[in-house]
Amino acid sequence: MKLLEDRIRKDGIVREGGVLKVDSFLNHQMDIALFREMGREFARLYAGCGVNKILTIEASGIGIACIAAEEFGCPVVFAKKNKTKNIAGDVWTSKVESFTHGRVYDIIVSKDFLTEKDRVLIIDDFLAMGSALQGLIKLVRDSGAELVGAGIAVEKAFQPGGELIRGMGVRVESLARVASMDPETGVRFVGE
Ligand code: 5GP
Repeated sequence: MKLLEDRIRKDGIVREGGVLKVDSFLNHQMDIALFREMGREFARLYAGCGVNKILTIEASGIGIACIAAEEFGCPVVFAKKNKTKNIAGDVWTSKVESFTHGRVYDIIVSKDFLTEKDRVLIIDDFLAMGSALQGLIKLVRDSGAELVGAGIAVEKAFQPGGELIRGMGVRVESLARVASMDPETGVRFVGE
């Protein structure tokens, strides 16, 4: 999606260690006009797939998921990161290793909000190693819901997550696919 690629080129900051900071428009301050266009693109890509629920993970996926959900006319459920070992109530759980924070989280979703009646689109801001997506996919599969696919804002295609998840037979659509990035020379996208 050219609009997002151009914005990353303009306002993205490449950090050492393969981290792209997009705090000024995506995951701290949020550009809602940009999110609207991203939501429309996800709706175009997954048109006719019968999506009736969007699943994301707190915190930075929630904004994108909510705007996209308006296009699909469906609710958003966000997986909560549970910091304690005591997982309360009737919940689906899995584990996610954070690429940016280097920690392992339990994530949970109430069984009330993810059931075999759901056709789920997972939405997240980044795809890097694929751990967040794998954790979310496990929640969907455990619940018996149908996984339609995943919609990602920024895929770092030089990291193994995209290949891993597509190799699991899951449809992944990424709006911007970063081929390489460097603090000096900036970002290059797949196909450039
Ligand atoms: P993964 O589980 O695929 O390794 O990483 C996905 C999660 O890590 C995303 O939800 C995102 O919050 C975070 N993340 C991974 N790489 C980056 C990055 O380069 N920049 C930012 N801002 N977040 C990232």
